[in-house]
Amino acid sequence: MCGFISIMGPEGSDVIQEVLTGLLAIQHRGQDAAGVVTCGDRFQAKKGLGLVRDVFEPRHLERLRGPMAVGHVRYPTVGGNEDADVQPFWVDFPVGIAMAHNGNVTNFHELRRDYFPRQTPQGRLASNCDLEAVLYVFAGQLFQRKAERIKPEDVRDAVAEVFRTVKGAYSVVGLIAGAGMYAFRDPYGIKPIILGKRETDRGTFYAVASESVVLDVAGYEAVRDLNAGELLWIDTDRRLHSFQVSVRPHRPCIFEYIYFARPDSVLDGALVYQTRIRLGAELAKSWRRTGLEADVVIPVPESARTAAQEMAEVLGIPYREGFVKNRYVGRTFIMPNDTERRSSIRHKLNPIRMEFEGKRVLILDDSIVRGNTSRQIVRIARQMGAAKVYMASYSPALTHPCPYGIDMSTKNEFIARGRTVDEVCKELGADHLIYQGIDAMVRAVREVTGDHREFCMACFDGDYPTGDVTERVLADIEADRLAASGGGKA
Ligand code: AMP
Repeated sequence: MCGFISIMGPEGSDVIQEVLTGLLAIQHRGQDAAGVVTCGDRFQAKKGLGLVRDVFEPRHLERLRGPMAVGHVRYPTVGGNEDADVQPFWVDFPVGIAMAHNGNVTNFHELRRDYFPRQTPQGRLASNCDLEAVLYVFAGQLFQRKAERIKPEDVRDAVAEVFRTVKGAYSVVGLIAGAGMYAFRDPYGIKPIILGKRETDRGTFYAVASESVVLDVAGYEAVRDLNAGELLWIDTDRRLHSFQVSVRPHRPCIFEYIYFARPDSVLDGALVYQTRIRLGAELAKSWRRTGLEADVVIPVPESARTAAQEMAEVLGIPYREGFVKNRYVGRTFIMPNDTERRSSIRHKLNPIRMEFEGKRVLILDDSIVRGNTSRQIVRIARQMGAAKVYMASYSPALTHPCPYGIDMSTKNEFIARGRTVDEVCKELGADHLIYQGIDAMVRAVREVTGDHREFCMACFDGDYPTGDVTERVLADIEADRLAASGGGKA
């Protein structure tokens, strides 16, 4: 999971400040690295490992001028913690193309092994980042155009070639020097991407970003989400062209609503905050069916707060903040290996004893992946004197790896895989455990979208929309992740 923003302003404008503002708003999508490429007379870049606020300093801004820029924050799903893998990427010759993405290429290994040795002059890719595969296929096709000047149809053909060759789920934004800004969404629309606009006296500014919150804070009006398989091309005359390059069913990732996206974002027309309220309401119904009684609902901050408030309200019991989060420690999950993750949970969450002592506590999290968080939380709740410790997850049990760029790519990661709910409960040391049902989850999100749309929920049900996720693909991705988390590289 990563985040991006790309902006094209009127001739003579500088958009770097807005790009950085936007990147700060999607820092939650990746804290491992950040980068910007701007395009004035030529490409200028600044990239580095770490948070946006650490990578960029005022002195960099002078150099990063120009009316077009693309920025990225990264959490590595393929590739590791190396400078060479930090996005955006670009090529200078014969046409300058910059690119950033969110998602994951599922046939990256295959392309690296079989395709690029034949296609690239050096015979191999320079990084371990799958974006490079998208960039080279895109650029390779664009270079084959007949006319000197790049036409909208040339960009369309380049995207069509990407869709033919590069499998997986990826939303992409980028710039072509002297020609315009492009943005496209993967054929199944798994990854979010939204267009925004701002009219000024100087002309129109266009922005394309991973989440609508970026547009809000950067002062843009949300225009619409891109369709699955759609390309947007904005040329230097600031004309917007749209092509439906591929026509497949739209299957947006449901986990964006559960966990990834900020609650104040609207994804594909649904306010994330509202979906979390509905998820809490649905889970309250399941809790009632257990016949158990709790004295208090306590969220695992931050993501579970909204659902926990609703759950408490529906159940008619108090909602309490039982854990205080140290906001200066990074997201537990966003730490590249398991050892760091385990030890940091305690640093991150400190309990308030009075909310546990003598009480039957119902602790709600958005999801349980490896179970490290829940196990420690149950232990802490007991240490604080809870009479009963009930755990609840407002998403269903995670059981299948995600090859589309969510960092859940190895099967053995899932505590729920091959275990019944009772067995997981026992592993966690809780007195009872409930998960949201898959149907209830879909119902909750659809109540907000107001339609009958289908989602990608492969991590819960193993149904991979792209149809090309074989055991081999999963094994390749798994090997890559294991190597990366062990400090090595695949
Ligand atoms: P775990 O300790 O492995 O069970 O992780 C569960 C915690 O990680 C939950 O509190 C979630 O908020 C968070 N989480 C779940 N899925 C992801 C993900 N794919 N990426 C980052 N964080 C996640």
